[in-house]
Amino acid sequence: MKRLLLKFKPITPYVISSSLSSEEKKVEFYFGINPKHKFIPPSTIKGFLRTAAVYSYSTESCEFISSTLMMKNGIKPFTLTCADLIDPSNYDQNIRSIIEQTKKCMQERKVRIPCIICRTFGNTKVRGKMRIVKVTVDSNNESLEGKLEEISNLLFSWQLSEENRKALTVETSKSEIKVEILCEDDECVEVIKNACEVINKGLVRLGRFKSRGFGRLTVEVEEIP
Ligand SMILES: [Zn+2]
Repeated sequence: MKRLLLKFKPITPYVISSSLSSEEKKVEFYFGINPKHKFIPPSTIKGFLRTAAVYSYSTESCEFISSTLMMKNGIKPFTLTCADLIDPSNYDQNIRSIIEQTKKCMQERKVRIPCIICRTFGNTKVRGKMRIVKVTVDSNNESLEGKLEEISNLLFSWQLSEENRKALTVETSKSEIKVEILCEDDECVEVIKNACEVINKGLVRLGRFKSRGFGRLTVEVEEIP
């Protein structure tokens, strides 16, 4: 087992949305049992790293290859993983054809199934090799209470045509995020490090409203004994 410490430093504020939608259309951070305890869910960080890793291993990733094929075939891309390549029974003829083409492409590129992304992060059928142990913000606290700022008057183009348009208020943070990860082996460590390089290039951002400039971060990786 190897232990990694990732230190994320925001360049622009990030928004982590709550699953609760409110009347005033405010986007808040997640909260658990105590509504005052707002936090960043580990699953959000895992998804963020996974997306970055897919960019880093695009030619070897089930997700990247299948979504490229979907676009080529005029299908709106959605996420397929190696679990779907192993068991395509949930899908119709069109998607099964994409699955077949994806498998063929992976075979030609000598990529084994599950691919490096699914081996690292897992899917519905495979247990991943990385575990997020702890997510803390700023010092040693996991709660974002008192570290949030509101940004108001965000308008989206689709709202401009509405008569009673309401601007959106979002809760944001610029707190540093520390993430402790356990990796089962060297391959897992390498994938996480490469994902971090992608994040540092600004190719992948954290949280909602990335297209409006939110969630640009840099990240430092440290191996801890
Ligand atoms: Zn895969």
